[in-house]
Amino acid sequence: MQSCNLNCKGCASVSPLAEEAFVDVCQLEKDVKELAKKLTIRTISIDGGEALLHPKIDKILYVVRNAFSKTQLVLLSNGLLIFKMPDSFWRALKECDVWFSVTIYPPFKNKAPEMFQYVRTKGVKVYKDDGYHDGYDMNKDWRKCLYSPNKTYGPAEEQYKKCDMKVCVLLYESHLYHCPMFYWKYYNRYFHEELELIKGYNIYQHGGWELMKAVTSPMPQCAHCKIPWERDTWDYSKREKSEWVEE
Ligand code: SF4
Ligand code: SF4
Repeated sequence: MQSCNLNCKGCASVSPLAEEAFVDVCQLEKDVKELAKKLTIRTISIDGGEALLHPKIDKILYVVRNAFSKTQLVLLSNGLLIFKMPDSFWRALKECDVWFSVTIYPPFKNKAPEMFQYVRTKGVKVYKDDGYHDGYDMNKDWRKCLYSPNKTYGPAEEQYKKCDMKVCVLLYESHLYHCPMFYWKYYNRYFHEELELIKGYNIYQHGGWELMKAVTSPMPQCAHCKIPWERDTWDYSKREKSEWVEE
């Protein structure tokens, strides 16, 4: 699910500019089975946009867990739909042993204790408890990941070394992608631009080693990525180019 029920300025998933589209669960099932044959993965995050908008989110949890029995699974959400989720959703989280990570955005800060408490009453593990999550300080920590086709911020290798998004390898429609730069396709479509998109690697056409090597190497686009990212104050998106691209 690439779109989102929130609308954050400079969203790294470019969700404010994305169309409403749902991951095909049958295809996903085939893809994760194929991936599991090729790679051992320590942690898989299931996210969006907003993952809870997917009408088959329960099924997705089972599909991923069936393929990756030993991997830590984390479901990322902005929490806005928590109180509306059916029992089957909470059951799936528990049965599939999935951590639930709720990012609290500034407009909903007051609701945070209630949200976390509600998740705990459902018997589900909250990822924030692990000390990892940054939810409460989103306003302070909001980061703008800017790209510029016209500027070079440093050699690609150096920018890649400094980038902490490089661990966010994405699986989408049978392809693996390096990082959220994949989502810049929504930017292109919305603004009728032609930013060069990152290459995806078909998981059926490459071996595990080849895939790993491909998605953990610097790309030409890294030179145009402004790393480290600027700190910024969280706000709603106005869907302006400057939220994502520096002229
Ligand atoms: S909640 Fe997350 S995915 Fe949704 S717009 Fe905000 S940053 Fe993007
Ligand atoms: S293009 Fe390179 S530097 Fe930019 S987010 Fe992706 S991996 Fe990081």
